[in-house]
Amino acid sequence: MTLSPVWHPFTQHALEPAMKRIVRTEGAHLYDEQGHAILDAISSWWVITHGHRHPLIMAAIRNACETYDQIIFAEYTHEPAEELARGLVAITPPGLNHVFYSDSGSTCVEVALKMALGFFHNAGSPRSRIVVMEHGYHGDTIGTMSAGERGVFNAAYEPILFGVDRLPFPISGQEQDTLDAFETLCRGGQVAALLIEPLVLGAGGMRMYPASLLSELKAIATRYGGLMIADEVMTGWGRTGTLFACEQADITPDILCISKGLTGGALPLAATLCSAEIFDAHLSTDRSRTFFHSSSYTANPIACAAALANLEVWKREPVAIRIRSLEAMHRTRLERFRVDPRFSNVRQTGTIIALDVNVPASGYLSDAGPKLRSFFRARNLLIRPLGNVIYLMTPYCVTADDLDRTYNAIDEAADMFAGGR
Ligand SMILES: *Cc1c(COP(=O)(O)O)cnc(C)c1O
Repeated sequence: MTLSPVWHPFTQHALEPAMKRIVRTEGAHLYDEQGHAILDAISSWWVITHGHRHPLIMAAIRNACETYDQIIFAEYTHEPAEELARGLVAITPPGLNHVFYSDSGSTCVEVALKMALGFFHNAGSPRSRIVVMEHGYHGDTIGTMSAGERGVFNAAYEPILFGVDRLPFPISGQEQDTLDAFETLCRGGQVAALLIEPLVLGAGGMRMYPASLLSELKAIATRYGGLMIADEVMTGWGRTGTLFACEQADITPDILCISKGLTGGALPLAATLCSAEIFDAHLSTDRSRTFFHSSSYTANPIACAAALANLEVWKREPVAIRIRSLEAMHRTRLERFRVDPRFSNVRQTGTIIALDVNVPASGYLSDAGPKLRSFFRARNLLIRPLGNVIYLMTPYCVTADDLDRTYNAIDEAADMFAGGR
């Protein structure tokens, strides 16, 4: 076998098994060269919402290719970006009136951080503290790594990461500690923004907290003139049961970051939405107040067309009903693990479920993760536990049979550590 020149993400090539080559995708499945159907139980890293190769989205991409490729997005605009921006303003929490495009979750968060600092800079009262939640994840660029949880992933880069303030993750029953910590930081006066994943902290271990905490955090930020940046890169597009997680807290963040499911997962695209105050702080005949940010592929028309088709899917198809039924299917299947001593922290928010396998040593680098992963891989289930945390985040088209098979595999997998019941 010839060695591939490809360097894969989050991959230790010295330890991992050979890459499985995927030749086709359809619905909730990936198909390998041998024709095996692999259930994509994590939506190909959380991007595929409705299912792989949704016909409406694929058709929109094909159509857009007849008319567009990349078009410079300064001085020039195009209908897919214009129509998509109007569509996003209409479906996101009220008060988010401006849309800035970029191309990944990391970049839309970088944009948000720059908007927040630019807002205070242009207002003539600079603030530069960013507050985040412990165990947060916002991307792998230097800026978003700075804001995310520190650990083995970013130890090598630590010397060049900037400092942020961290709130303790809310422990059930002790949520007030998190609120008090935020209020104390805000009293210091320098807090520009709270950057937070609403309701579910994804890569940090699928940690869940109640909507009431999110609305109280927003109230504190507002009271002290700080901004809230909601990173809905993962939680957006129905994952938590509502189109956006912020809806459950009944809040409008000052800045909203969306990506992953924006195109239904078909093409890379991201958007940062913001309030009129933030846009207006950059609006001036003084050129130095310009928002100085761009990337070459800003608002790629084909990606925008895919996102427009995604909005159409949400309008035309009973996606909300599908999500509620998926939620219910998870709830009944998860029940058996709630009293199972092999598991702890059995949890669910909307269509996302997670549970910790009780293993001797937990943590991302414990060998529980790779062991579980190869167990599932051998059963044609794409599940990538975060250390000892098993989670499922399937496309919404997954069937009850596929879920049964998945839950049975989780049940069996836990025996690797418990030595049987
Ligand atoms: C995945 C993710 C990101 C980063 O998105 P990329 O497209 O991988 O850069 C940012 N924030 C959250 C909450 C995410 O889950």
